[in-house]
Amino acid sequence: MNNRQLFLQHLAQTTDFPLMIEVEKAEGIYLFGPKGEKYIDLISGIGVSNVGHRHPKVLEAIQNQLDKYLHLMVYGEYVQSPQSLLAKALCDTLPKHLDNVYLVNSGSEAIEGALKLAKRYTGKPKLISCVNAYHGSSHGSLSVGGNEIFKQAYRPLLPGISHINYGDISDLQSIDSETAAVLIETVQGEAGIRVAEKKYFQALRKRCDETGTLLIMDEVQCGFGRTGKFWAFEHVGIIPDIVVCAKGMGGGMPIGAFIANKEVMGVFKNNPILGHITTFGGHPVSSAASLATIEILLEEKLIELVEEKANLIKSLLIHPKIKSIRNKGLLMAVEFESFDVLKPIIDTAIEMGVITDWFLFCDDAMRIAPPLTITEEQIHEACEVIFRAIQKVFP
Ligand code: PMP
Repeated sequence: MNNRQLFLQHLAQTTDFPLMIEVEKAEGIYLFGPKGEKYIDLISGIGVSNVGHRHPKVLEAIQNQLDKYLHLMVYGEYVQSPQSLLAKALCDTLPKHLDNVYLVNSGSEAIEGALKLAKRYTGKPKLISCVNAYHGSSHGSLSVGGNEIFKQAYRPLLPGISHINYGDISDLQSIDSETAAVLIETVQGEAGIRVAEKKYFQALRKRCDETGTLLIMDEVQCGFGRTGKFWAFEHVGIIPDIVVCAKGMGGGMPIGAFIANKEVMGVFKNNPILGHITTFGGHPVSSAASLATIEILLEEKLIELVEEKANLIKSLLIHPKIKSIRNKGLLMAVEFESFDVLKPIIDTAIEMGVITDWFLFCDDAMRIAPPLTITEEQIHEACEVIFRAIQKVFP
């Protein structure tokens, strides 16, 4: 059997439409196939490769750590400098009181930890999240997810969860003194890039303060420079109580974190109640890669150019078939009439060497979230291909 046959035969499938792109090597914004195929990765492996694939500084950090040690001990026991240095670097990007980092392996795990922390710190039973939110695929993170179709097969899910409409100020009244936390994506990703107004977030912050509710902001997809600020919440002028991140954080390595104030995090120890334990959380190789990723984002001034690059993409993707473009920086949804219009365009663009996708809860919009390292010239090249793909499907 060849690799494609093995993929279909022995790997659990997650979709009826796997992209089925075979990759031998990746570099910068490009993926390379076994027969010399070359693709522009315009989705960064779903928001991961913010600093591009195999950034030399990430590779160097990984190599240096490989020469020292791999896994040593479950998280939180030994002093491992990649973890401590990463935690310090993360805190340096954040407002002062967010000074304590819990490292895990993924977005879902970070959400789980943040929810447990909020319940334990406040002693309250209820959680609130948003309609159409995506927070992960584990049982707890699925429970706070806001898409009924995705949840129905797995009931009963976590109790005590209700959903409010993202961006709707009148719904904030349902946050009450029994609410441990509100969990919200600063920019809704899988809903197809929805951006609530600043005044909504300010009202949300106020309501959480009035009711003693912790505000957890999910920056798994929109953090790490993706929207033109290091953290997307910087756009809306509020500070969360807990920040959750993953994806772009590891520069291509698996890692996630939830970050809070030392006092809040202080309740989260295993004595006498089990807190949140993880064997591989903050793996030293991933932590080293993540530290390098933060340095790259800051030193190469990638974040400053996000808005300009997004505007260039918007100016190049003007076509009668494109209904609108929603974006926050380089987190973009290009809206078409329907999935039936979009799907052949995506397929054709891939044949022509540009990879895009749609969203979990929004299948009429094209996902565009390139590595932040993409150059102006490469943006022209990619948009030209998308344009030609549209023309080819709809001559
Ligand atoms: N939160 C958000 C906003 C996400 O986009 C995702 C992943 N798409 C997750 C959480 C879950 O992250 P992971 O797949 O790493 O568990």
